[in-house]
Amino acid sequence: MTVVACGEDRSTRSHLIPFTEMAKLFASNGVIVTVILTPLNAERFNMVIDQAKASNLKIQFQLLPFPCVEAGLPKGSENMDTLPSPKYQPLFFAASNMLKEPLENWLSKLEKLPTCIVSDICLPWTSNVASKFNIPRVVFHGISCFTLLCSHNISLSKVHERVDSMSTPFVVPNLPDTIEFTKAQLPEAMKQDLKAWKEAIDQFKESELSAQGILVNTFEELEKNYVRGYEKVAKKVWCIGPLSLHDKFGKDDKVFIDDSESECLKFLISNKACSVIYVCFGSLSFIPASQLKELALGLEASNHPFIWVIGKNDCSVELEKWLKEENFEERNKGRGVIIKGWAPQVEILSHPSTGGFLSHCGWNSTMDAISCGVPMITWPMFAEQFFNEKLIVQVLKIGVRIGVEVVVDPMNTFKGEKVLVKKEDVKMAIEKLMENGVEGEQRRNRVKDIKNMAYKAVEDGGSSDSNCKLFIQEIVDQIS
Ligand code: UDP
Repeated sequence: MTVVACGEDRSTRSHLIPFTEMAKLFASNGVIVTVILTPLNAERFNMVIDQAKASNLKIQFQLLPFPCVEAGLPKGSENMDTLPSPKYQPLFFAASNMLKEPLENWLSKLEKLPTCIVSDICLPWTSNVASKFNIPRVVFHGISCFTLLCSHNISLSKVHERVDSMSTPFVVPNLPDTIEFTKAQLPEAMKQDLKAWKEAIDQFKESELSAQGILVNTFEELEKNYVRGYEKVAKKVWCIGPLSLHDKFGKDDKVFIDDSESECLKFLISNKACSVIYVCFGSLSFIPASQLKELALGLEASNHPFIWVIGKNDCSVELEKWLKEENFEERNKGRGVIIKGWAPQVEILSHPSTGGFLSHCGWNSTMDAISCGVPMITWPMFAEQFFNEKLIVQVLKIGVRIGVEVVVDPMNTFKGEKVLVKKEDVKMAIEKLMENGVEGEQRRNRVKDIKNMAYKAVEDGGSSDSNCKLFIQEIVDQIS
């Protein structure tokens, strides 16, 4: 069986990381996989490519040039986190739609067509390509079934259109639990009347429903009732996650690579078990300096050791100046570590000294926390992150809220907007998460139990392992 995996990213590394893990998983189950990437994204995954080669996995990478210039984007804008500003997103979407023709050209030159195309949900045009070449197609989702079912039921019932204000709560119909949202917490795309957004969402849905099924980076034991619920919507649901664990199983996962990372490791080693709070907002955040100053002061006030990742887009001149003037790093020497840019998140979370994760609730970060058994402080910002917060805090009961109520529009960033989270909120949430009382203990135990379930799911014969094998078998059966 051969699979062509179109993971060419329309959003972030957060789509490509699990996508590449999935390619490795298929290959380790005997499938020949071709991953379609653009040159810059491929560079980011050199290590994965080398690993795949070294372990004789049958993964090849096919590069399609990304039409930056043709779409009016600055050179090198091959990924959302390389865009100079979120305002370039529409052009970026247009550019990724232009990949249809090069993909068709590549397919038409193959001696033998692939058995199946697996494409990211953000690439709906792959459905036309698959039909044209008569190749079965499956959609990959890097979000939870909880989110899929919530957003499906909201869109279908239009319950959010019947509330009288942005802050009026409504109950999502037909869910296994009573889950409330406000319109202010919904992803931008669900509440905007913009024709372009509506069209994009309709295309995603159509491409998902016309696919043979969906592969989801989750595991059944995590959200069984929601998986069952979504099985009534999609033709087929294969939960095969946590994808990052398949590869880790049985390996030493505490590998720190370069010097700054080993600084971080030294810091972790020097602290007590479960005492460090790790703060990271994923790969796409655009947080104003005013908000980051409050966060810094809150971390300091909490009296807990911390590792704070300031993402590439958040390292502003204003913030740097403030950190310097305040002597913040010096003042917190030994108490805190700041990583500017990219942190070895999984390694940090899997260290025994890490006791909490303050996160924007991206799905991959949520899966990282779960796979490492670390409870979370939830600070959702945009996209489906408020859905993830509900799952973490209300359904799984493995996190505490920092208290944000409103999605920030990443298209405008929330630069210049008022501070949403005060330093007192940061301090309070950290104290609540890290407390040694019954509630804190129960939360820690629950997330450890879920971590064990995650490991079991990817073991031989576990639910995700079996689902992966079933998926491969069903596709093979279908064509033979
Ligand atoms: N990540 C990381 N180091 C960082 C920031 C992010 O390793 O400094 C990884 C993290 O492990 C996760 C992904 O980047 O796999 C972020 O994905 P998520 O869905 O959480 O958020 P997004 O980037 O889409 O907002």
